[in-house]
Amino acid sequence: MRILAITNQKGGVGKTTTCVNLAASLVAAKSRVLLIDLDPQGNATTGSGIDKAGLKQTIYHVLIGKKTLKEVIQTSEKGLFDIAPASRDLAGAEVELVNEIGRETRLKLALAELNDSYDYVLLDCPPALNLVTVNALTAANAVMIPMQCEYYALEGLSDLVNTIKKVRTHLNSTLEIEGLLRTMFDNRNMLAQQVSAQLVSHFGDKVYSTVIPRNIRLAEAPSYGLPALVYDRASKGAQAYVELAHEIIRRSKAKANVAI
Ligand code: ATP
Ligand code: MG
Repeated sequence: MRILAITNQKGGVGKTTTCVNLAASLVAAKSRVLLIDLDPQGNATTGSGIDKAGLKQTIYHVLIGKKTLKEVIQTSEKGLFDIAPASRDLAGAEVELVNEIGRETRLKLALAELNDSYDYVLLDCPPALNLVTVNALTAANAVMIPMQCEYYALEGLSDLVNTIKKVRTHLNSTLEIEGLLRTMFDNRNMLAQQVSAQLVSHFGDKVYSTVIPRNIRLAEAPSYGLPALVYDRASKGAQAYVELAHEIIRRSKAKANVAI
């Protein structure tokens, strides 16, 4: 079971779009996938076709210890992956957990109960370096950082990398940076090309070779509660996430070989 935290404290960089579409693409590649929505906005939940209004139990109840993860997991009918949904109540978890012992390891403990029932667990983080994000980083094997290739992209990255270093020191010594993902990429934009080249020269093969283009189908699909792979299979956006899934599977296999 490989647990990936999809995180960037910058808002609107494509975290949720990546989670939903990567989940569907990993399923299409015959992997068993659980998506965990860790954002009170609940975008991954609605984007997976689940109605937030009717939810009685969510990841919030797992974090505060009222439910097990298995009790809140649902199946996204169209995406064919499982999802632990979130809704607005998750915003309260931060305050409720603040004085609790083991507040950073709630998610890690909840995931241990799954006993490898999935090949991939994707954690859709909120746009903040808060306690919920720290729970994700503590539970994860690796971090995936989606980013837009624009002027300020690199500035925010150093805060995130510092948080990752702190989590490594205190909570999760084996946490890796799995990769940086260029999202909403527009090849005709000179600045995007320059920032992209800078990223590659800085981070080398930590930058996924798959690039996600700006594609209207990726933006439309969530309003139908569908991954782009189901909404418009042939679209450039859907196909880019299929390619990303293959790249991630190749990377996981290469790691497994090294471990042997
Ligand atoms: P937040 O920080 O609020 O959680 P996020 O990082 O999860 O945001 P998304 O919600 O995935 O970002 O994307 C932000 C907006 O950009 C959404 O409206 C989404 O539909 C759109 N979007 C994401 N990726 C693409 C893309 N490759 N092409 C076009 N639109 C995209
Ligand atoms: Mg999001």
